[in-house]
Amino acid sequence: MYTVSTWAQFKAALAAGGSAPRIIKVKGTIDAVADGCDAFAAPGYDFGAYLEKYSPENWGLETDLGDEPDDSPEGLRRASAARQDQAIKANVPANTTIIGIGRNAGFKGASLQIKGVDNVIVRNLTFESPVDCFPQWDPTDGDKGNWNSEYDSAVVYGSTHVWLDHNTFTDGEHPDSAAPTYFGMLYQQHDGQLDVVRGADHVTASWNVFTEHDKTILIGNSDSESTAAGDRGHLKVTFHHNLFKNLVERAPRVRFGQVDVYNNHFVADDSYAYSFGIGKESQLVAEHNAFTLPDGVSPAKVLKKWNESPVTAAHNRVNGRSVDLIAVHNAEIPGETLQPGAGWTPTLRTGVHPAKAVPAIVDRGAGAGRLR
Ligand code: CA
Ligand code: CA
Repeated sequence: MYTVSTWAQFKAALAAGGSAPRIIKVKGTIDAVADGCDAFAAPGYDFGAYLEKYSPENWGLETDLGDEPDDSPEGLRRASAARQDQAIKANVPANTTIIGIGRNAGFKGASLQIKGVDNVIVRNLTFESPVDCFPQWDPTDGDKGNWNSEYDSAVVYGSTHVWLDHNTFTDGEHPDSAAPTYFGMLYQQHDGQLDVVRGADHVTASWNVFTEHDKTILIGNSDSESTAAGDRGHLKVTFHHNLFKNLVERAPRVRFGQVDVYNNHFVADDSYAYSFGIGKESQLVAEHNAFTLPDGVSPAKVLKKWNESPVTAAHNRVNGRSVDLIAVHNAEIPGETLQPGAGWTPTLRTGVHPAKAVPAIVDRGAGAGRLR
């Protein structure tokens, strides 16, 4: 048993004692980037020089920056990013419980790596999304180039039996709405809130709040055949009694997995793109959920088809009314017809509430600081 209140203490508690079972209690908010972004900058790194060299006017949009040498602005950005990567990622060993004490425990700017291990519990913590101090410009991403960022608050990578309960995931003091634009594109400094990838299995996220974020949750991170073999038959993930509030997309976006999403409350604002991404070989079941959508946002947007994969969506309510999410999607979005029937039936649910009761129950009970 460890009680920690600094990033150094937390990392030491993770590293101690091999894979012996441990409980780490987190006291207060631990900032993984307490010294600020400048502390990671490699000698000679200069963002102004970076913008000057790689602007579309000077560099064009045909060539990515992969071949830039170590002493170029991109090389110095790479070196700086590697220092941040090393500092903010924390590897969680097997048989570990990380639990916040009281109402205000959590992490800022940290990225939990739950990688290749079994039996991990994360509870009662607020995660303020990591800010990538050194996003990379990719001139070849899309028609105009784009900024790409790393770091998710939590990554479940090839791990089994992981339970994330009563946590809050938020962009907090660094909303995308406050981000500047460079080269005409948003200087995006966030990646995801939660990724479940590379054959991870038996993961449950319950009673969490996911809020104020763009690309929120990935289940499976690639369509490629090289990773498909590890993902097929795995990525079994359950989401129940979570509040998904003011998100843009990916809540979650699914590839390969059998994902059960029941009894969650989705609250959208005008930034809303979609909730459920239907990706390659996914088998999503979404039942007994409640959606609160603003005027002018159609329930047809809840589902987003990326690939030809079946989906079950039943007993869901939108703004207090029963809605067949697949039927309304197919009626309003021609060319993206979804096939009903995910081909499996979840059997490991605990109590299921009627969708009608979900907003009140979830809004009152979900998130950090509400564990009793
Ligand atoms: Ca990214
Ligand atoms: Ca990610």
